[in-house]
Amino acid sequence: MAIASEPATRLSQGTLQDLAKRHLWMHFTRHGAYEEADVPIIVRGEGCYVYDEHGNRYLDGLSALFCVNAGHGRSEIGEAMARQVSELDFFTVWSYAHPRAIELAARVAALAPGDLNRVFFTSGGSEAVESALKLARNYHRAKGNGHKTKVVARETAYHGTSLGALAATGIPALRTQFEPLTPGGVHVPNTDSFRWPADRDPLWAADQIEERILFEGPETVAAVILEPVQNAGGCIPPQEGYFQRVREICDRYEVLLISDEVICSWGRLGTWYGSERYGYRPDLITTAKALTSAYAPMGALIVSDRIADPFMREKAMFSHGFTFAGHPVAAAVALEVQKIYAEMDIVGRAKRLGPLLQATLGRLTAHPLVAELRGTGLIFGMELMRDRDKRIPFDAALGVGARVDAAARRHGLILRVVGDRLVFAPPLIIEAHEIEEIGARLKRALDDVADELTRERALQ
Ligand code: PLP
Repeated sequence: MAIASEPATRLSQGTLQDLAKRHLWMHFTRHGAYEEADVPIIVRGEGCYVYDEHGNRYLDGLSALFCVNAGHGRSEIGEAMARQVSELDFFTVWSYAHPRAIELAARVAALAPGDLNRVFFTSGGSEAVESALKLARNYHRAKGNGHKTKVVARETAYHGTSLGALAATGIPALRTQFEPLTPGGVHVPNTDSFRWPADRDPLWAADQIEERILFEGPETVAAVILEPVQNAGGCIPPQEGYFQRVREICDRYEVLLISDEVICSWGRLGTWYGSERYGYRPDLITTAKALTSAYAPMGALIVSDRIADPFMREKAMFSHGFTFAGHPVAAAVALEVQKIYAEMDIVGRAKRLGPLLQATLGRLTAHPLVAELRGTGLIFGMELMRDRDKRIPFDAALGVGARVDAAARRHGLILRVVGDRLVFAPPLIIEAHEIEEIGARLKRALDDVADELTRERALQ
């Protein structure tokens, strides 16, 4: 159709809506919901704000899915892309190298903890997780332990959607409809102590990992994969000492510890890497999203010298790769973004401003809809419940979380809602007054929904 080849900016709003509804398959989207309603079409971004096609302004309290830590609309990143295209548009990292991939690998390794010095680029987070799982199996095989193939992950954890990564993802609704899955993914409880009995040992969840390894047989387990703060399930931090216990368990049974930092790296937790925030040393780190502030698609698997070593000798090889991995333009973007992070002390900002976001959202824990707030750095989760003291959730049919999401959007705030849990992760360039604005807009949204539920007699 001739019109579809017109640049988007030249299409009228009505036409964009029509074309979106007819042709664009949005991810994780109930398209039926847009039969009557408009598709939200975001046309511009600047700093912590994005604008839709009608000119409405939203505070992006989600960094466009935990991505734009450097904020929207930075023209210097576009200039870095243009410079790179005029120098070298693309060349592969399959048995070749190019300057930007080398420089970026060195930068990423220099910031990584301990001896995590080897960087395997990917095009995103699922590919990084996929690569980590394959490398873990391959490493054990190279060491003569070819039966070590399973991966232990946590319930409700999200590690991506490709079939290998999905074996680690612990969300039944995302798994069951695609069965049979890649074999080897087994799951243990997460660290969501809000739902635990009060007298439970704080390291119970860590010990569950050991029990699972013993149940499966340590000779069959290749790796444990964990996020420093589990995002899916509503931002679930670990207990004090959790990762130290997990590290001991992994060492005891020769199981690799994969820190999935697709969200938790690049300052989000107030440290470069999430593992640094909790003081543990992983064998492998997966990252993506804010590596480039999402101005270009890129991910990476960062590998310790110990694990990389068998693949660096004689004729050995990790037989795995993706055409676009280490793309020169994405690498140039990442280098420019890293420069911005350093110049703005993005890690220090997240650490300094985290307590303000916590206090601002914390004031809302007295609101009748809110049960709990948890998080660290600049990522926080808020749990909505009918009765916070008795831990009674809202009837799922009320769709309270979805109502808050819609109301927040009406009040110009974008956040993440899963069930009745809200997650906030604004760009790390956020200013104090914008944090106050998140609090004010969220309060209005919560008030609207509380009024609705009172009218419907659904609030106690
Ligand atoms: N791992 C974690 C912890 C994630 O949060 C995500 C995505 O949100 C992924 C992996 C998958 O990343 P991608 O969507 O880039 O494939």
